[in-house]
Amino acid sequence: MTTTPAPADLPLVPVPTQADPADATAPRVLLIYTGGTVGMAVNAAGELAPMELRHLDRQMPELARLPLRVSLLSLPELIDSSNVTPADWLFLARLIGEHYADFDGFVVLHGTDTMAYSAAALSYLLENLGKPVVFTGAQLPVGASRSDAQRNLVTALEIAAARHPRANTMRVPEVGVFFNDVLIRGTRAKKVESQQFAAFKSENYPPLARAGIGLEFSDNSIRLLPAARLRVHQHLETRVAVLRLFPGITAAVVDAVLSVPGLRGCVLETYGSGNAPTTAWFTASLRGALARGVWLLNVSQCVEGRVVQGKYETSAALASLGVVGGDDITTEAAVTKLMFVLGLGLDNARTRQLLGQDLRGEITP
Ligand code: ASP
Repeated sequence: MTTTPAPADLPLVPVPTQADPADATAPRVLLIYTGGTVGMAVNAAGELAPMELRHLDRQMPELARLPLRVSLLSLPELIDSSNVTPADWLFLARLIGEHYADFDGFVVLHGTDTMAYSAAALSYLLENLGKPVVFTGAQLPVGASRSDAQRNLVTALEIAAARHPRANTMRVPEVGVFFNDVLIRGTRAKKVESQQFAAFKSENYPPLARAGIGLEFSDNSIRLLPAARLRVHQHLETRVAVLRLFPGITAAVVDAVLSVPGLRGCVLETYGSGNAPTTAWFTASLRGALARGVWLLNVSQCVEGRVVQGKYETSAALASLGVVGGDDITTEAAVTKLMFVLGLGLDNARTRQLLGQDLRGEITP
């Protein structure tokens, strides 16, 4: 991706659909293409690399049957999502902010590898979101005969355009990840599979919608916020780290991570319900980091369940040291939450409060 030119200068290309472009009653969706397998082709070296998604209508004739007005915006530098950076998230947030008033919903075509991080980051950056931002992609390029691209994209567009039948709101005013017929909240998604089509899972929160013969929305699981003006945040603190514990981890490893110059925050991936060694050197390392102003967020290595600091002796020390419990947050949502909250530049009390609080449906307090 890229941060130049300015978001507003990127051209929008109309995608031919069933809707008359002049029909103001047909929902409008902006499709933002960032790269990823969905649009990849094999390069001269025999590797999959991103290509331009020209002639989308020819590759996906299904689009012609959609009663939606769709515009395609391709980022100037298409990437494999393993190359995504926080600067790209800020750019995407700005892009959505620039076009927010003109579209009913947004679909972001993105590589699957880091889609969960990007979806979580955008969830934080887009405060008071009242329209859908649906991330999707594919495990096989759109040109492959058994590609999942068509199925994922067509339904993602439908979800992005769906209005609530009874309220005057969009049906899913959230950032979500739609893949293999399931819509997951952006802050709950995790890539769990690199070979099968069901690439994403949310272990601790139910899906927001499922696609079968029809679209089934789980209205009770979808966040409906009181209407407020969208706020697009433009700061992320990137001086963060992730420290995953394992039996045998040494003081040298822990200290190497926690004493990175300028470090502002670290996700501590602990065991079970948030437990960690009680050895003196480990406690001293954490105490030292906290004294240097490094925020520590405790996230469990278990994909299900939650961190309960103080349940065991092995987590009580963490709580009393000042480590923030991450409840049932994923590492993806925790890293981006740290970046977001620390980027707000608030005082210690407020920072602690926000880190421990549910901001975008990322935890079940
Ligand atoms: N490496 C690819 C990417 O994340 C994988 C994918 O899109 O499925 O961009």
